[in-house]
Amino acid sequence: MQYINYRAPSAQRRCPVYFIFISSMKKLLFLLAILISSCTQAQTDSSATPTLPMTDITEQTDYGHQTERTIDIIVVHSNYYVGRDSFSTKGCIDQFRAYDVAPHYLIERDGHILKMVDEKDIAWHAGKSQLPGTERTYLNNTSIGIELINTMSQGPTQEQTESLLLLVNDIRSRRNIKYLMRHSDIAPDRKTDPWCFDWTSFCKRVRETSGEIITVEEETEEEMTEEEGEGLADESEEQKAGS
Ligand SMILES: [Zn+2]
Repeated sequence: MQYINYRAPSAQRRCPVYFIFISSMKKLLFLLAILISSCTQAQTDSSATPTLPMTDITEQTDYGHQTERTIDIIVVHSNYYVGRDSFSTKGCIDQFRAYDVAPHYLIERDGHILKMVDEKDIAWHAGKSQLPGTERTYLNNTSIGIELINTMSQGPTQEQTESLLLLVNDIRSRRNIKYLMRHSDIAPDRKTDPWCFDWTSFCKRVRETSGEIITVEEETEEEMTEEEGEGLADESEEQKAGS
């Protein structure tokens, strides 16, 4: 969150001519507004087309847009409530509602999993996104989103990590999931979540328990040979050019 302090310019320093000018402009704008509003009214009255008493809110809802979709990506996120209790589940859900977004699953601090959106439906959790190394975008359409409740300084609990592993393996037992991505992998310019999470260890455990899966992982300097390092730099440049 960013807070911007806005300070209004001091009115006391303005000269009287300034106030007369502003006052006249306000009157003029007011008269113009009345004129435009009456013109619009006249136009509306002349085209008396009957309309259904219906409001289309499909663009505002967070799921249910499509029932036939191919899912091959799991996206892991972090989220917290910006109010007093960062780990409040209700606070997080209210926040989702306010921003018109939702994950499929929300994992609470004690490891309890809340299913928020049916897997077959699209949930709005990924935003503007691209699958690394591919031209695939709009990944909400092809992914399942999982949110962990944790902050930028307090990572997921052991219980949350265990539940996430069980959930990822459960989804993989039912679906052909090829990619396990962090939100930061698919929206690197905008997102940094999941936060304070040992991604490499987690991916290793996923592979050990449910088989090979494509991930994006940073190699540590000790593990990286000079040659591999150069290769990664090239890849990174290509990704920049492609985004
Ligand atoms: Zn996220």
